[in-house]
Amino acid sequence: MPDAPSDFRYKRVLLKVSGEVLMGDQSYGIDMKTVDVVAAAVARVAREGVEICLVIGGGNIFRGLSKAAEGMDRANADYMGMLATIMNALAMQGALEKIGVDTRVQSAIPMAAIAEPYIRRRAMRHLEKGRVVIFAAGVGAPFFTTDSGAALRAAEMGCDALLKGTSVDGVYTADPKKDPNATR
Ligand code: UDP
Repeated sequence: MPDAPSDFRYKRVLLKVSGEVLMGDQSYGIDMKTVDVVAAAVARVAREGVEICLVIGGGNIFRGLSKAAEGMDRANADYMGMLATIMNALAMQGALEKIGVDTRVQSAIPMAAIAEPYIRRRAMRHLEKGRVVIFAAGVGAPFFTTDSGAALRAAEMGCDALLKGTSVDGVYTADPKKDPNATR
């Protein structure tokens, strides 16, 4: 694996992509054309030698908090949300592998038939070999979000930067899509 060229500021990064990004123009689910666009951007940087971790959200398919508000048990709803992140991770894996990027999906909830379990040192090894590692199922516990998962994995992997690709352009006092008074 060549060293990252000097014009790249970071050698190892974690990119968190929110589920909503993967919806494209749809109001729900996975838009594979959009997944392909994100995958192509990731591939471009990975080919330059930057080591890339991905954490994909699940909000395009299932958001635990909103279902809990509708009367579902919060922990159960959150587990369903984590399953949604695994589906998104597999979609992203497919898109990357299709264009020749080696990937591994590691899930915080063991699911032996479709993904590796999360093993920190194994994930490190994949990165060193130039594979893009996709971390699925957040931190593997309810009452968290994939943002927490992204921060945790970035720290564990010793990433130089944690980047976030989302449909909101910064940190607001409230959800700017719902609250017109939210300030950035
Ligand atoms: N989730 C969870 N624990 C985690 C990560 C995710 O319980 O460690 C659940 C939670 O219900 C969350 C859903 O999975 O709403 C989808 O993740 P998130 O909302 O972070 O996705 P994003 O907003 O990035 O699309």
